[in-house]
Amino acid sequence: MPKNTLLNLSDISSLLKVNGEEFDKLLASAKQLRDEKLGNQIYLRGLIEFSNVCSKDCYYCGIRKSNKQVQRYNVSDDEVLASCRLAFDNGLGSVVLQSGECSSPAFVTRVDRLLKKIKQLSGNRLGITLSCGEQSPETYRRWFESGAHRYLLRIETSNRDLYYKIHPNDKKHSFEHRLEALYYLKYTGYQTGSGVMIGLPFQTTEHLAGDLLFFKNIDIDMCGMGPYVEHENTPLEGCRHLLRPKKERFELALKMIAVLRLMMYDINIAASTALDAIDVFGRVKAVAAGANVVMPNITPAKYRSNYLLYENKPIGNNDVLADIALLEQRIKVIGNEIGYNQWGDAKHFFKKNER
Ligand code: SAH
Ligand code: SF4
Repeated sequence: MPKNTLLNLSDISSLLKVNGEEFDKLLASAKQLRDEKLGNQIYLRGLIEFSNVCSKDCYYCGIRKSNKQVQRYNVSDDEVLASCRLAFDNGLGSVVLQSGECSSPAFVTRVDRLLKKIKQLSGNRLGITLSCGEQSPETYRRWFESGAHRYLLRIETSNRDLYYKIHPNDKKHSFEHRLEALYYLKYTGYQTGSGVMIGLPFQTTEHLAGDLLFFKNIDIDMCGMGPYVEHENTPLEGCRHLLRPKKERFELALKMIAVLRLMMYDINIAASTALDAIDVFGRVKAVAAGANVVMPNITPAKYRSNYLLYENKPIGNNDVLADIALLEQRIKVIGNEIGYNQWGDAKHFFKKNER
């Protein structure tokens, strides 16, 4: 299996098409490279989906603005802080604050306040990743200065034509603006993560190979990518008949993770929650394919059924610690262990800044 970083579009497309024994070999060599270069520790981030209020209308997403069936919520500051305390006390090392996209001054100020309080409650020791969509350069800077050090913003697809098949073609959903946002994040100083959905209608293997080259070209530090999963109250529901079977989307997602690991050995790759919507062992299988980050959901249980980005999204256990214990057991079975009490930053970020 090629362990070099110079794969071209056609090499990558071929790797994304392997099956059977070749598939197993690809995944195993990605895991081996991860273990060799990064060690066998897997990092956890406690994921808090703190608001499902969203001003956008992405065609694939269950909490899009126009879905009137969703009950909108904001987790209170106290509840967010209680979840962070739980993460900190149980050695999770860091949290991810995720939400719909909102850029009102009240929202920006609220996130800023939360960042400062999270830093305070943990004596600066809890790492914080944000995933709150596109914001102005000023907002990105303000949040960075208040303690966020990693930011996830998926490009969703790096192919402009496909992008506009899955988003409205208007100012609010501009492909160029999303690209620009990724650059702002990087130049603000964040460890910057991106990602795509895998198995979208109209998406070809070559589009996906292009996505991996895109990540390499913009030199991401982190990646979160997972299968596209349908949601009945979205415009893409009408394209259900065009989709690859779920199992195929799932396996393609594992191949994407494995090939990216071979291309960028020292970045952080998350095992996305959407994998678990297709296979109960989804995230662990992603770890066995080269991912090194898992994000247990620590959102207060009463809100979770209103953050259904796609169907079958796991609502998890009321008992977050039981979920984590189960995850730990499964991770041990594949020969890895959890790196407790660490931020688990992307090695890639520090290496390139040394140059
Ligand atoms: N609003 C922010 C963050 C929350 S959405 C943003 O959009 O960046 C987080 C991610 O959920 C999105 O980036 C998208 O890739 C994923 N997502 C949304 N709908 C999905 C679906 N139907 N299937 C799989 N992933 C989905
Ligand atoms: Fe909003 Fe993000 Fe869903 Fe798009 S993907 S509708 S921005 S929550």
